[in-house]
Amino acid sequence: MNFVAQATSPPSPSLQPTAAEMYELVNTVMKYIVSVQANPDQLPLAGSGYQWLHQRDRHSDTEAAIALARSLQEPLPEQGTTNVEALLQDLFEQLAPHSLNTNGGGYLGFIPSGGLFHAALADFIALSLNRYVPIFMAAPGLAAIEAQAVQWLCNLMDLPATAGGLFTSGGSIATLTALHAARQQHFADQPPTAWLQGTVYVSEQAHYCLEKGLAICGLPRQNLRQIPVDDQFRLRLDILEATLQQDIAAGYQPFLIAANAGTTNTGAIDNLLEMGRLARTYRTWFHVDAAYGGFFKLTQRGQRLLRGIEQADSIVLDPHKSLFLPYGTGALLVRDRTSLQRAFDFTGSYMPARSQETSPLEEDMLYLSPELTRDFRGLRLWLPLKLLGVQPFRSQLDDKLDLARWAATQLSNMPHMQLVAEPQLSILAFKLQPDAAKLTAQDLDDLNRALLDAINERGNILLTPFKGQQPGEFAIRMAILSFRTTAVNLQQGLKDIQQAASQVLHTRLGWEESLCTLQEFTWEMPAIASNQREAA
Ligand SMILES: *Cc1c(COP(=O)(O)O)cnc(C)c1O
Repeated sequence: MNFVAQATSPPSPSLQPTAAEMYELVNTVMKYIVSVQANPDQLPLAGSGYQWLHQRDRHSDTEAAIALARSLQEPLPEQGTTNVEALLQDLFEQLAPHSLNTNGGGYLGFIPSGGLFHAALADFIALSLNRYVPIFMAAPGLAAIEAQAVQWLCNLMDLPATAGGLFTSGGSIATLTALHAARQQHFADQPPTAWLQGTVYVSEQAHYCLEKGLAICGLPRQNLRQIPVDDQFRLRLDILEATLQQDIAAGYQPFLIAANAGTTNTGAIDNLLEMGRLARTYRTWFHVDAAYGGFFKLTQRGQRLLRGIEQADSIVLDPHKSLFLPYGTGALLVRDRTSLQRAFDFTGSYMPARSQETSPLEEDMLYLSPELTRDFRGLRLWLPLKLLGVQPFRSQLDDKLDLARWAATQLSNMPHMQLVAEPQLSILAFKLQPDAAKLTAQDLDDLNRALLDAINERGNILLTPFKGQQPGEFAIRMAILSFRTTAVNLQQGLKDIQQAASQVLHTRLGWEESLCTLQEFTWEMPAIASNQREAA
C-alpha cells in the first residue's frame, strides 16, 4: 500500500476540518448565534404564526408557511457549498424568524422555556466530546457528571438516598418511563390479564402525556379515571377516594395516583400531602407531574406550595421549562432506583458486564431507561449550574412568582375583567366578563377570542388560550416563566391588555368610549423585599 500517495491525494471538502477551519466555522456561526441570543426581542413574537395560533379564517400565514416549506424541497446535494455565510443567513434570517419567538421576553404563551445560552454551549461541548455516557465505565467522569446532576434534583425534591433517575428528551418520555416502572412494580408477579384490571387516577387537568403513556403501555382507555377539580382546578380528594373505593369493590386494581405540581393550563397544584397519603393507604404508586412547577421548589414559597412532593415514587421535571434550558431536556426521578433497574432489566450479548455500582454516581444509566445510545444531556444542567450557581435560578423563579401576583392584581382591578385562575405559581388566566352586556356563552367566547387577538396583534406579549370544557369558558392564559421576562414586558403587556379590552368592548359591543376607557393604574412595580417573600 502506498501511504505517501494516500496522504497527498487531494483533500475533498473534508469531514475532518483543520484547526484553522474549525475556528473559522465557529466564528462565522457564532456571529449569528450572538445576534439571536443577545437580542432575542428583535424578532417579532409571533413571527408569521399568530393567525395560525388563533385558528382564524385568515389563511395567509398558513399559505406563507407552506410556501416556505416547499421552497426547501430539493434533491440530496451531491456537492457541499463553499458559501457558508449564505447558508447561515438563510437559516437565521429567512427560516428561523418565521416562528413563535419563544426566546422573547414577551413570550407568555404555552409554557415558555427561556433558552439559556450556557446550556446551548453545553450541547456543543457534549457533541464535540462525543463520548458514550450511558455506560459508566465507558466515560466515568462524564457519566458521573450526569448522575451528579440527577442527584442535585433528587436532593432538591427531598427524596431519600435510595433515589435516582435520568434525563430524557422531555416530560412526556419521562412520564412514559415512570408509568412502565409503576406497572412493573405492581403487575410483574401477576398473570398478564391482571394488568387489564389496573386503574390510574389523575385530575381532569392532568397533562395528556399520562393518557398517551398509558395507551403506549397498553392500558385500556377506560381504566384512566379523570377526577373532577375544584374551583381552583385542583383534584377533588373526596371524589378521588370515593372512586378508589368503588373501583376496588368492582374488582379493579388501582395502581397509580398522579398528582399535578403545577398544571399546564393554570399552574394548579393538587393537594400533594393528601394524595400521597391516599396512595399509601391504597398501596398505589404515587406519581407527581412537576414538569412545569417542580423547580419552584428552589424558592421558599415554592417549597411550601409543593409540600408533600417528597412522598412521590416518581417525579417528572422539565428543566426545559422552569430551569430555563432550551427545549430537549426532561427528567424522571424515582424514590427507589431499583424500581427503574427492574423495569428496564434487558441486555444483549455484545454488551459489557454491568458496573457493580456502589453509589448512584456509578450508575449505568442505560439500565434505567428505554433508550440505549443517546446524547450527553446531563451537561446541559451541570454546566450552567456550575458556571452560574443555583442562586440566579432561584431569584429568577422568585421574580416570576412576584410578577404573576402583580399581574393578577392589576388584571383584577381592570373593569369588566375577571380572573379565571389566580396564579398559584406563575400562570394565571383571565377573561372579559361584561355582565351588563348579557352575552350568550358563545358571544362571550367570541368576545374573548377577539380580545386575545387584539392583545397579540399589538406584538409586545404573546398569550395563548385557556379552553374550558363548556361554551362560555374560553379564557386567556398568561404564563410567566422565561428568565427574559421582566416587569417592563409585563407593564407593556398589561397596557396592551387594557387597550385591547377597550377596543373590543367598543367594536364588538358598541360601548361608548367613556364605558370602555379603563382607569389608569400606577404602573410601578411594588418593590418586594426579600423578607416579604419569606413571609409570603
Ligand atoms: C409540558 C408538560 C408535560 C409534557 O412535557 P414535554 O416536555 O412537553 O414532553 C407534562 N406535564 C406538564 C404539567 C407539562 O406542563
